Amino acid sequence: AALLDVRDLVVRYGDTTAVDHVSFTLAPGETLALNGPSGCGKSSTALAVLQLRRPDSGEVRFEGRELTTLTESELRPVRPRMQPVFQDPYGSLSPRHRIRDAVAEPLRIQGQRPTRTQIAELLDRVGLDPSYGDRRPHELSGGQCQRVGIARALASEPRLLVLDEPVSSLDPSVRAGVLNLLADLQDDLGLGYLFICHDRAVVRHFAHRVIEMRDGRISSG
Ligand code: ADP
Ligand code: ADP
Repeated sequence: AALLDVRDLVVRYGDTTAVDHVSFTLAPGETLALNGPSGCGKSSTALAVLQLRRPDSGEVRFEGRELTTLTESELRPVRPRMQPVFQDPYGSLSPRHRIRDAVAEPLRIQGQRPTRTQIAELLDRVGLDPSYGDRRPHELSGGQCQRVGIARALASEPRLLVLDEPVSSLDPSVRAGVLNLLADLQDDLGLGYLFICHDRAVVRHFAHRVIEMRDGRISSG
Protein backbone atom coordinates (compact mmCIF):
# COMPACT_ATOMS: atom_id res chain seq x y z
CA ALA A 1 0.00 0.00 0.00
CA ALA A 2 1.12 3.59 -0.62
CA LEU A 3 2.51 5.55 2.30
CA LEU A 4 1.27 8.74 0.68
CA ASP A 5 -1.39 9.12 -2.00
CA VAL A 6 -1.98 12.66 -3.24
CA ARG A 7 -4.95 13.24 -5.57
CA ASP A 8 -5.86 16.36 -7.53
CA LEU A 9 -4.14 18.69 -5.09
CA VAL A 10 -4.92 22.38 -5.59
CA VAL A 11 -3.32 25.27 -3.66
CA ARG A 12 -4.24 28.87 -4.44
CA TYR A 13 -2.94 32.18 -3.12
CA GLY A 14 -5.55 34.68 -4.21
CA ASP A 15 -5.52 34.65 -8.01
CA THR A 16 -2.36 32.52 -8.20
CA THR A 17 -2.88 28.78 -8.58
CA ALA A 18 0.42 27.51 -7.12
CA VAL A 19 -0.55 23.81 -7.32
CA ASP A 20 -2.94 22.81 -10.09
CA HIS A 21 -4.41 19.28 -9.76
CA VAL A 22 -1.24 17.45 -8.79
CA SER A 23 -1.43 13.68 -8.13
CA PHE A 24 1.24 11.18 -7.10
CA THR A 25 1.88 8.26 -4.76
CA LEU A 26 4.89 7.43 -2.63
CA ALA A 27 5.73 3.97 -1.26
CA PRO A 28 7.40 3.21 2.08
CA GLY A 29 11.18 3.32 1.68
CA GLU A 30 10.92 5.30 -1.56
CA THR A 31 12.43 8.68 -2.47
CA LEU A 32 10.19 10.64 -4.81
CA ALA A 33 11.65 13.92 -6.02
CA LEU A 34 9.69 17.01 -7.02
CA ASN A 35 11.90 18.88 -9.46
CA GLY A 36 11.32 22.09 -11.40
CA PRO A 37 12.21 25.79 -11.54
CA SER A 38 11.65 28.31 -8.75
CA GLY A 39 7.97 29.19 -8.42
CA CYS A 40 6.62 26.00 -10.04
CA GLY A 41 4.80 24.94 -6.86
CA LYS A 42 7.16 22.52 -5.12
CA SER A 43 7.10 24.16 -1.68
CA SER A 44 3.36 24.73 -1.84
CA THR A 45 2.90 21.01 -2.56
CA ALA A 46 5.14 20.17 0.41
CA LEU A 47 3.22 22.46 2.77
CA ALA A 48 -0.12 21.05 1.62
CA VAL A 49 1.07 17.44 2.07
CA LEU A 50 2.15 18.33 5.62
CA GLN A 51 -1.18 20.11 6.18
CA LEU A 52 0.81 23.18 7.23
CA ARG A 53 -1.23 24.95 4.57
CA ARG A 54 -4.64 23.40 3.96
CA PRO A 55 -5.15 22.73 0.25
CA ASP A 56 -8.07 24.33 -1.56
CA SER A 57 -9.13 20.97 -2.92
CA GLY A 58 -7.89 17.44 -3.47
CA GLU A 59 -6.94 14.57 -1.18
CA VAL A 60 -3.86 13.78 0.86
CA ARG A 61 -4.06 10.17 2.02
CA PHE A 62 -1.27 9.25 4.46
CA GLU A 63 -1.02 5.75 5.92
CA GLY A 64 -4.53 5.18 4.62
CA ARG A 65 -6.11 8.24 6.27
CA GLU A 66 -7.47 11.20 4.35
CA LEU A 67 -5.95 14.24 6.05
CA THR A 68 -7.65 17.17 4.34
CA THR A 69 -10.94 16.59 6.15
CA LEU A 70 -9.38 16.16 9.62
CA THR A 71 -9.55 18.90 12.23
CA GLU A 72 -6.38 20.28 13.86
CA SER A 73 -6.96 18.12 16.92
CA GLU A 74 -7.54 15.04 14.77
CA LEU A 75 -4.24 15.82 13.01
CA ARG A 76 -2.28 15.93 16.28
CA PRO A 77 -1.45 12.22 16.40
CA VAL A 78 -0.68 12.19 12.64
CA ARG A 79 1.81 15.10 12.60
CA PRO A 80 4.64 13.25 14.36
CA ARG A 81 4.56 10.61 11.61
CA MET A 82 5.24 13.11 8.79
CA GLN A 83 8.03 15.55 9.52
CA PRO A 84 9.47 18.44 7.54
CA VAL A 85 13.14 19.26 6.99
CA PHE A 86 13.61 22.75 5.55
CA GLN A 87 16.26 24.40 3.43
CA ASP A 88 17.90 26.88 5.77
CA PRO A 89 19.69 24.95 8.50
CA TYR A 90 20.18 28.01 10.73
CA GLY A 91 16.77 29.53 10.07
CA SER A 92 14.94 26.47 11.33
CA LEU A 93 16.81 26.47 14.67
CA SER A 94 16.34 29.10 17.36
CA PRO A 95 19.70 30.88 17.88
CA ARG A 96 19.13 30.99 21.65
CA HIS A 97 18.44 27.30 22.11
CA ARG A 98 21.06 24.71 22.79
CA ILE A 99 21.17 21.92 20.25
CA ARG A 100 19.74 19.41 22.72
CA ASP A 101 16.68 21.64 23.25
CA ALA A 102 16.25 22.06 19.49
CA VAL A 103 16.26 18.27 19.07
CA ALA A 104 13.87 17.81 22.00
CA GLU A 105 11.40 20.50 20.95
CA PRO A 106 9.12 18.40 18.67
CA LEU A 107 8.78 15.79 21.43
CA ARG A 108 8.12 18.44 24.08
CA ILE A 109 5.35 19.86 21.90
CA GLN A 110 3.75 16.41 22.07
CA GLY A 111 4.02 16.46 25.85
CA GLN A 112 6.98 14.06 26.05
CA ARG A 113 10.19 14.67 27.98
CA PRO A 114 13.07 13.11 26.12
CA THR A 115 15.97 11.92 28.29
CA ARG A 116 19.61 12.92 27.77
CA THR A 117 20.23 9.42 26.46
CA GLN A 118 17.47 9.80 23.87
CA ILE A 119 18.95 13.10 22.70
CA ALA A 120 22.45 11.61 22.58
CA GLU A 121 21.14 8.69 20.50
CA LEU A 122 19.42 11.05 18.05
CA LEU A 123 22.62 13.12 17.63
CA ASP A 124 24.61 9.92 17.16
CA ARG A 125 22.14 8.73 14.49
CA VAL A 126 22.92 11.82 12.39
CA GLY A 127 26.67 11.52 12.90
CA LEU A 128 27.12 14.21 15.58
CA ASP A 129 29.00 13.67 18.82
CA PRO A 130 26.59 13.91 21.80
CA SER A 131 28.73 16.79 23.16
CA TYR A 132 27.20 18.95 20.40
CA GLY A 133 24.02 18.95 22.48
CA ASP A 134 25.54 21.68 24.66
CA ARG A 135 26.34 23.98 21.73
CA ARG A 136 24.24 26.66 20.09
CA PRO A 137 23.46 26.78 16.35
CA HIS A 138 26.09 29.46 15.52
CA GLU A 139 28.77 27.13 16.88
CA LEU A 140 27.93 24.55 14.19
CA SER A 141 28.61 24.49 10.46
CA GLY A 142 25.73 24.57 7.97
CA GLY A 143 26.05 20.83 7.38
CA GLN A 144 26.06 20.11 11.11
CA CYS A 145 22.96 22.31 11.57
CA GLN A 146 21.18 20.42 8.82
CA ARG A 147 22.04 17.18 10.63
CA VAL A 148 20.39 18.68 13.75
CA GLY A 149 17.34 19.47 11.62
CA ILE A 150 17.23 15.83 10.55
CA ALA A 151 17.66 14.62 14.16
CA ARG A 152 14.71 16.81 15.17
CA ALA A 153 12.61 15.35 12.39
CA LEU A 154 13.53 11.81 13.45
CA ALA A 155 12.74 12.37 17.13
CA SER A 156 9.05 11.56 16.77
CA GLU A 157 9.71 8.33 14.81
CA PRO A 158 8.14 9.48 11.53
CA ARG A 159 7.40 7.31 8.50
CA LEU A 160 7.63 10.18 5.98
CA LEU A 161 10.10 13.04 5.74
CA VAL A 162 9.21 15.99 3.54
CA LEU A 163 12.58 17.43 2.62
CA ASP A 164 12.32 20.91 1.09
CA GLU A 165 15.66 21.71 -0.60
CA PRO A 166 17.56 20.05 2.27
CA VAL A 167 21.04 20.45 0.72
CA SER A 168 20.53 23.53 -1.47
CA SER A 169 22.06 26.02 0.94
CA LEU A 170 25.00 23.76 1.83
CA ASP A 171 28.48 23.88 0.34
CA PRO A 172 28.88 21.32 -2.42
CA SER A 173 31.58 19.64 -0.32
CA VAL A 174 29.16 18.83 2.54
CA ARG A 175 26.12 17.98 0.40
CA ALA A 176 27.25 14.43 -0.29
CA GLY A 177 27.66 13.75 3.44
CA VAL A 178 24.10 14.85 4.22
CA LEU A 179 22.66 12.94 1.24
CA ASN A 180 24.56 9.80 2.29
CA LEU A 181 23.19 10.21 5.81
CA LEU A 182 19.64 10.46 4.43
CA ALA A 183 20.17 7.36 2.28
CA ASP A 184 21.51 5.38 5.27
CA LEU A 185 18.59 6.45 7.46
CA GLN A 186 16.16 5.39 4.76
CA ASP A 187 17.83 1.97 4.51
CA ASP A 188 17.75 1.50 8.28
CA LEU A 189 14.28 2.86 9.03
CA GLY A 190 12.34 2.33 5.79
CA LEU A 191 11.38 6.01 5.62
CA GLY A 192 9.58 7.50 2.66
CA TYR A 193 11.05 10.75 1.35
CA LEU A 194 9.25 13.47 -0.57
CA PHE A 195 12.38 15.22 -1.78
CA ILE A 196 12.00 18.73 -3.10
CA CYS A 197 14.96 19.92 -5.08
CA HIS A 198 15.54 22.25 -8.02
CA ASP A 199 18.98 20.73 -8.78
CA ARG A 200 18.67 18.10 -11.51
CA ALA A 201 22.06 16.53 -10.84
CA VAL A 202 21.26 15.98 -7.14
CA VAL A 203 17.81 14.61 -7.98
CA ARG A 204 19.15 12.16 -10.57
CA HIS A 205 21.70 10.84 -8.15
CA PHE A 206 19.49 10.60 -5.09
CA ALA A 207 15.84 9.94 -6.03
CA HIS A 208 14.22 6.65 -7.04
CA ARG A 209 11.59 8.51 -9.04
CA VAL A 210 11.27 12.09 -10.26
CA ILE A 211 8.22 14.24 -10.95
CA GLU A 212 8.85 17.36 -13.00
CA MET A 213 6.67 20.36 -12.15
CA ARG A 214 5.99 23.40 -14.31
CA ASP A 215 3.56 26.21 -13.48
CA GLY A 216 1.87 24.20 -10.74
CA ARG A 217 1.37 21.09 -12.87
CA ILE A 218 3.17 17.82 -13.36
CA SER A 219 4.91 17.96 -16.71
CA SER A 220 6.45 14.50 -16.55
CA GLY A 221 7.12 11.58 -14.19
P1 ADP B 1 11.59 28.49 -2.90
O1 ADP B 1 11.72 28.72 -4.37
O2 ADP B 1 12.83 27.91 -2.29
O3 ADP B 1 10.33 27.82 -2.50
P2 ADP B 1 10.59 31.12 -2.58
O4 ADP B 1 11.47 32.31 -2.59
O5 ADP B 1 9.72 30.80 -3.74
O6 ADP B 1 11.54 29.93 -2.22
O7 ADP B 1 9.64 31.19 -1.32
C1 ADP B 1 10.14 31.35 -0.01
C2 ADP B 1 8.96 31.59 0.93
O8 ADP B 1 8.23 32.74 0.51
C3 ADP B 1 7.97 30.43 0.95
O9 ADP B 1 7.55 30.23 2.27
C4 ADP B 1 6.82 30.89 0.08
O10 ADP B 1 5.59 30.36 0.54
C5 ADP B 1 6.86 32.39 0.26
N1 ADP B 1 6.48 33.07 -0.98
C6 ADP B 1 6.87 32.78 -2.24
N2 ADP B 1 6.30 33.58 -3.14
C7 ADP B 1 5.53 34.45 -2.43
C8 ADP B 1 4.68 35.52 -2.79
N3 ADP B 1 4.47 35.88 -4.05
N4 ADP B 1 4.04 36.18 -1.81
C9 ADP B 1 4.22 35.82 -0.54
N5 ADP B 1 5.00 34.80 -0.13
C10 ADP B 1 5.64 34.12 -1.06
P1 ADP C 1 8.65 26.56 -5.58
O1 ADP C 1 8.75 25.90 -4.25
O2 ADP C 1 8.66 25.60 -6.71
O3 ADP C 1 9.65 27.64 -5.74
P2 ADP C 1 6.26 27.81 -4.51
O4 ADP C 1 5.34 26.73 -4.10
O5 ADP C 1 7.09 28.47 -3.44
O6 ADP C 1 7.21 27.24 -5.66
O7 ADP C 1 5.46 28.94 -5.28
C1 ADP C 1 4.51 28.63 -6.29
C2 ADP C 1 3.80 29.92 -6.70
O8 ADP C 1 3.02 30.37 -5.61
C3 ADP C 1 4.71 31.07 -7.05
O9 ADP C 1 4.08 31.81 -8.06
C4 ADP C 1 4.82 31.84 -5.76
O10 ADP C 1 5.12 33.20 -5.99
C5 ADP C 1 3.42 31.66 -5.21
N1 ADP C 1 3.41 31.70 -3.73
C6 ADP C 1 4.06 30.83 -2.90
N2 ADP C 1 3.80 31.11 -1.62
C7 ADP C 1 2.96 32.18 -1.64
C8 ADP C 1 2.34 32.94 -0.61
N3 ADP C 1 2.50 32.66 0.68
N4 ADP C 1 1.55 33.96 -1.00
C9 ADP C 1 1.36 34.25 -2.30
N5 ADP C 1 1.91 33.57 -3.32
C10 ADP C 1 2.71 32.55 -3.00
